[in-house]
Amino acid sequence: MARIVQKFGGTSVADVGRIKSVALRVKSEVGLGNQVAVVVSAMAGATNQLVDWTRDTSRLHDAREYDVVVASGEQVTAGLLSLALQDLGIDARSWLGWQIPIRTDGVHGKARIETIDVTEICRRLAEGQVAVVAGFQGVGPRGRITTLGRGGSDTSAVALAAALEADRCDIFTDVDGVYTADPRIVAKARKLGRITYEEMLEMASQGAKVLQTRSVAMAMNHRMRVQVLSSFIDAPGTLVVDEDEIVEKQVVSGIAYSRDEAKITVQKVADRPGVAAAIFGPLADHAINVDMIVQSASEDGHTADLTFTVARADLDRAVAVLENGKKAIGFTVLKPDPNVVKVSVIGVGMRSHAGVAKQMFQALADKGINIQVISTSEIKVSVLIASEYTELALRTLHTAYGLDAPG
Ligand code: ADP
Ligand code: ASP
Ligand code: MG
Repeated sequence: MARIVQKFGGTSVADVGRIKSVALRVKSEVGLGNQVAVVVSAMAGATNQLVDWTRDTSRLHDAREYDVVVASGEQVTAGLLSLALQDLGIDARSWLGWQIPIRTDGVHGKARIETIDVTEICRRLAEGQVAVVAGFQGVGPRGRITTLGRGGSDTSAVALAAALEADRCDIFTDVDGVYTADPRIVAKARKLGRITYEEMLEMASQGAKVLQTRSVAMAMNHRMRVQVLSSFIDAPGTLVVDEDEIVEKQVVSGIAYSRDEAKITVQKVADRPGVAAAIFGPLADHAINVDMIVQSASEDGHTADLTFTVARADLDRAVAVLENGKKAIGFTVLKPDPNVVKVSVIGVGMRSHAGVAKQMFQALADKGINIQVISTSEIKVSVLIASEYTELALRTLHTAYGLDAPG
């Protein structure tokens, strides 16, 4: 007998019919004699609707009340799935974050899970009851509902699997695995049978939203066997594994993109010590993260231009902070640009292979795509380009690195 955590995303529970199909899937896992805990997302589109309602009600909404509203979508699906399971003759009970409890820190809207008390759930699993847990939510230090950031049900599932010492965490979604690139944009993307934790972490953090970044970090820390698979078709999915479990190593195993970036160029700042600190210090003080950075000499030769990226959601705030500090920083013009996309190529093989970056720059140049900013890490190269070239860049790179599916 095994202990399994199954997670179903928004499209998998999009309506009552699909929730009934999910119930059948859960039932068949129970039928194998396994203990099963299920984590559910809100119905597709529900969380977006809830977010919109909080914004329409109050532009500067209180983060604690935002969480009360947006966490509610998962309460609905947890209850409905429990009902559907009961109708199939399966003993099932729903659990909200605070009932377990799943304890988090107090960062409303993007809370981190600290502990999960699985005592009661374990007792019930042992009795054959299925636990249906509302994903995406927990309870903060002051007893208030928190949410884990968009896509957070993945993290709920992996955290629960780790706390339950589950044998496996199955993430059911609307694609049948992790692909070499987003299959909705790159038609020739190939499904990966296996991907390393590290590559998956990099893919997720560079924009592949098939798994929330934190869920991968957590799986990696606990060496949890995570599988990504379709809730609609029966096909083998993608297993996220340790590097030594991968036989055929590719230099580049995937390409990701993120539209969540925005670019800011600060023109003609004095080229003297302390300037970078004067710009990035105040941004950090306002909890605005800076991702890519490049500094270049201005046309006049005496000053420098600094170009960097922030999350698109932070763009207006970042501009306001910099304009406020204009005197201290001493720049002439500040240019915000939200029309950019970050494209990244990822692969553990880069550690031992030179030339990956060069190949990327050449392939983009051949298509006349201008690179605005570059950043690298041990296993990835990222470039910032104009957003209108997103599809072209992804497809070009996919072909250039030999990732295209045959046929
Ligand atoms: P869920 O609601 O099940 O959590 P998400 O929409 O969060 O599903 O994640 C699944 C989506 O991730 C897919 O529909 C796909 O468009 C997108 N995606 C992005 N990159 C990849 C990739 N490399 N492989 C598979 N899916 C990807
Ligand atoms: N429902 C939440 C969201 O849409 C959490 C999730 O689906 O993982 O972000
Ligand atoms: Mg998701």
